[in-house]
Amino acid sequence: LPEYAFIGRSNVGKSSLINMLTEHKKLAMVSGKPGKTRLINHFLINKEWHLVDLPGYGYARVSKKEKKVFQQFITDYFKKRKQLVSAFVLVDIRHEAQKIDLEFMQWLGENAIPFSVVFTKADKLKPNVIDKNIEAYKANLLNTWESLPPIFVTSSSKKIGQEEVLNYIQEVNNQLNW
Ligand code: GDP
Repeated sequence: LPEYAFIGRSNVGKSSLINMLTEHKKLAMVSGKPGKTRLINHFLINKEWHLVDLPGYGYARVSKKEKKVFQQFITDYFKKRKQLVSAFVLVDIRHEAQKIDLEFMQWLGENAIPFSVVFTKADKLKPNVIDKNIEAYKANLLNTWESLPPIFVTSSSKKIGQEEVLNYIQEVNNQLNW
């Protein structure tokens, strides 16, 4: 089945977003036993696709060696996953573009992995500030990219962007003829 992977810096709101996207869906946890710490979780959604929960990157309190193991783990996932259709890179809408996120997107591009940008925590800002931040982010992306990826604005606490992300995945799935 097609897979869509969700990833971002730790504390970006990934768990909350995944909860929002998976609620009310016919859902089954695919890998591992509940309650056990796993690096990668798969959720089967509507028996049609897998939502893949990848570990957060950019932890401050992690040794260099641990970071390396971790990075290897994520790159292995992306390089081996034939089912992967695209990635969703989560970005906190309050912050300006972070080097680690931009580098990660760069790396996805170099490996021909399609991705979208998902802004999180949109409830924390006023609409005009949201627009301003998104414009600044787009301008930043256009320094290195010829065209912009799909962009989603979400808030897990206010349930913003849920349908947009799910409809997008549905549309891409429909075009796949899996
Ligand atoms: P993760 O580490 O990326 O999985 O992030 P979490 O989902 O655990 O969220 C990190 C923190 O941000 C928690 O304190 C959440 O309550 C908060 N948070 C996550 N999403 C939202 C959101 O949409 N709005 C607000 N206001 N807070 C959020």
